[in-house]
Amino acid sequence: MTTLIKNGRIVTATDDYVADILIEGKQIKAIGKDMAVQADEVIDASGMLVMPGGIDPHVHLDMPFMGTSSSDSYETGTRAALHGGTTTVIDFILQKQGNSLRSALDEWNGRANGNAVGDYSFHMAVTDFNENTKPEVKQMIDEGITSFKTFMAYKGALMIDDRQMIGLMEEVKNQGGLITVHATNGDMIDYLIQKHREEGKLSPLYHYLSQPEVTEAEASERFVDMANYTGCPGYIVHLTCEGALNAVRNATRRNQKIFVETCIQYLVLDASLYEKDFDGAKWVMSPPLREKKDQATLWAGINQGLVQVVATDHCPFKWEQKKMGEKDFSKIPNGHPAIEHRMELLFSEGVSKGKITLNKYVEVASTNAAKIFGMFPKKGTIAIGSDADIVIFDPNEKHTVSAKTHHMNVDYSGYEGWELSGKVKKVLLRGKVAIDNNECKVSKGYGQFVKRNKVKQII
Ligand SMILES: [Zn+2]
Repeated sequence: MTTLIKNGRIVTATDDYVADILIEGKQIKAIGKDMAVQADEVIDASGMLVMPGGIDPHVHLDMPFMGTSSSDSYETGTRAALHGGTTTVIDFILQKQGNSLRSALDEWNGRANGNAVGDYSFHMAVTDFNENTKPEVKQMIDEGITSFKTFMAYKGALMIDDRQMIGLMEEVKNQGGLITVHATNGDMIDYLIQKHREEGKLSPLYHYLSQPEVTEAEASERFVDMANYTGCPGYIVHLTCEGALNAVRNATRRNQKIFVETCIQYLVLDASLYEKDFDGAKWVMSPPLREKKDQATLWAGINQGLVQVVATDHCPFKWEQKKMGEKDFSKIPNGHPAIEHRMELLFSEGVSKGKITLNKYVEVASTNAAKIFGMFPKKGTIAIGSDADIVIFDPNEKHTVSAKTHHMNVDYSGYEGWELSGKVKKVLLRGKVAIDNNECKVSKGYGQFVKRNKVKQII
């Protein structure tokens, strides 16, 4: 099967030109001007942007959490991702404390295998690092799971202490992997949650007030220091604020490199949403939304190269599930739906409004995640030999986000009524048209596990 995409404006993290792309099977075979070739299928992309498929390296599909499970399965979540131009996601396996990493991998494979529509990979969250789990680090890397998530918060459930953190960092460094971190101070947050509850302050606003900026800045700085001490490559997930980014900025002064991810919501939403009584539960996530000055910091951080990735931390819960915390903010399942609209929101709010360039857009929405997480150049670019994961995007089409039309398995949108400029028109995944004008053309089981390499790229 061959496909020719004609006359599109090809945009990668570095290039921008009009040309044709010839796809043979699953990969890009040739790129050229006015190619005189016959193809089984010809797609006219005149006037369209042709970009690498998006990569969202931070999603939680079908994840057991806070007494319930995130509402998107691998099927609905990866399909919604495809609708929004994201062809590959990386989900988090959570080790159960007291159990092995292997048993957690088996559990997650049971949910993902045969169910995904789009491509996926896994990070391994290590919640209990001990003599038994230590040798499993290498085993996971051999399976293509080369990044290890740690939590400095969620005390009593997911959090590890600094002693375990250092031990894990040393092992991950020795085996050639990468440590990622949820960097907030779990003890401080625990104290503040308890204090607010005792004072009868139970609305979603107090979720926000229980995680002030200092809780993130302090933990980010501590993580960066430990990574510097051990020499382990580090990546901070969902960084939200000025204080935390300054910890990273300070680390560059001693020649340290730390990778930083933010999420689309922290760039475009702010904490004023928590003042809407229980409606604020829609945006109860950890860390919480921040202030306008933090949005400015994050956009600047992207342009300064300090923030390399824009992900989602997609972790949807239906309104019924959110209502578990109607009387107590600490019982609201944490997370919000975004997997479908990350690419379009970032284009509309970032590129269309002149905050970032088109090349930077591709870099933070796709290429950098592929490089950091060992998938480049198979994923994350348009080049000869790369997987034909391609988004054909109309930069001018306007559309409105609504829970009535989105494809995520959740009954509200955090962006209801937002009018966006720029729309995904077609998406190819490994050479096959997966999305065509709002219609999904591939079915569950088409999505494949992406085995990742050790970290090689420095960006
Ligand atoms: Zn997360």
